[in-house]
Amino acid sequence: MKFFELKNGRTFLLKLEYGRGIIEQLVEFLFAKKIETAYLSGIGAVKMAEIGYYDQERKEYVKRKIEEPMELLSLTGNVSLRDGKPFCHVHVVLGKDSMIYAGHLFDAEVFACEIYLVELEGKVSRSYDEQTGLYLWT
Ligand code: ZN
Repeated sequence: MKFFELKNGRTFLLKLEYGRGIIEQLVEFLFAKKIETAYLSGIGAVKMAEIGYYDQERKEYVKRKIEEPMELLSLTGNVSLRDGKPFCHVHVVLGKDSMIYAGHLFDAEVFACEIYLVELEGKVSRSYDEQTGLYLWT
């Protein structure tokens, strides 16, 4: 196991804009505030989403687009550097009636979304990991 000891920095509550992408808006904010490492969580509702899972055998993401309004029941993730730029790794649980969708978030169109983001002081970078085919913390 590898670990990074970091301190909490600035804390933000974000109200994302209607009709725009969650990831797109997060990345914009991270650049604007010069945040390189963070953790985040959120709730709200989306108009559509593209989520997926990582196929460990084939070493690639399998994506799924869900083109309907859903509750954003839970969003959780982190921010670290990939190729020197802030990179968001986010997972979500989405729901509607008795349907639940969950997975790695590629992006989703916001209906309403509230994010709690805590900056972490210190640098954590990702690089390609041969064993998993993923970009992991190094
Ligand atoms: Zn993921």
